[in-house]
Amino acid sequence: MDLQSVVDDIYADLAPRIGEGKVADYIPQLARVNPAQFGIAITTVGGEVFSAGDAAVPFSIQSISKVFTLTLALGKAGETIWNRVGREPSGSAFNSIVQLEQEQGIPRNPFINAGAIVVTDMVLAGHAPREAIGEILRFVRYLADDETVGIDDAVAASEQATGYRNRALANFMRGFGNLQHPVDHVLGVYFHQCALAMTCRQLSRSGLFLANSGRDAMSGHSVVSNRRARRINALMLTCGHYDGSGDFAYHVGLPGKSGVGGGILAIAPGKASIAVWSPGLNKVGNSALGSAALEMLASRTGWSVFE
Ligand code: GLN
Repeated sequence: MDLQSVVDDIYADLAPRIGEGKVADYIPQLARVNPAQFGIAITTVGGEVFSAGDAAVPFSIQSISKVFTLTLALGKAGETIWNRVGREPSGSAFNSIVQLEQEQGIPRNPFINAGAIVVTDMVLAGHAPREAIGEILRFVRYLADDETVGIDDAVAASEQATGYRNRALANFMRGFGNLQHPVDHVLGVYFHQCALAMTCRQLSRSGLFLANSGRDAMSGHSVVSNRRARRINALMLTCGHYDGSGDFAYHVGLPGKSGVGGGILAIAPGKASIAVWSPGLNKVGNSALGSAALEMLASRTGWSVFE
């Protein structure tokens, strides 16, 4: 299969639609991003990289970072993390608070904001906030095999200044005893992880371990066990797109995680890790063009977890 032609064709087919959707505007710094951008990159388990469009432009990965912090927290605390966060799709918006009261401050899953904030609290254990941010950054640079990956401080500051709903979620959970650190510390780390800036090429490289049974396909290093990689993929498939998760599984059929910066990381187990980016979002906060691109990719390559 000629994957370069596949990504070139997807880019050409979607080019007339570039700019579709609405950029996230509740984070002022994200509202300033030019919507007329679209990139796609595939890193295969064989170590080849194929890309098209704006695949070398860094963007704010936002909630895609939740995959990396979950991986870190599982490494630190193992399966005990499931005492504090669930594994069920929420069927609610990424920043919803409604289920938290009924479920006594235990968020539905690690990929909605409340769940990711609890996971960040776990990563923070034994660290000052600055050290935890450093640990997350080092981990992502290691996965990307690229020391140039950084954090966009303007985006972090912008969210810090306006993150009222996240502050509400965090205070609510602290009230239920499900945060062990001060709300400001946890959110400081959370906003910085969301502000990681990466290109599609870097992001697809970072997800490669999830496509390769937990091992980095290039270095051979074991990042997580095969079982853990499968479980992270299962959570991405069921919970990675908030209340659009069922729709994404139906149309794309691959584990995926989206972010309000317009990026999506998708995993074709045994085949490749794929990153797409276009800032315009659909109604549930997932990249409009990115979702369309992944649906085309899945249908043109035949990649699916449902074989
Ligand atoms: N930083 C964003 C927030 O907390 C992440 C949300 C997202 O990407 N869906 O609102």
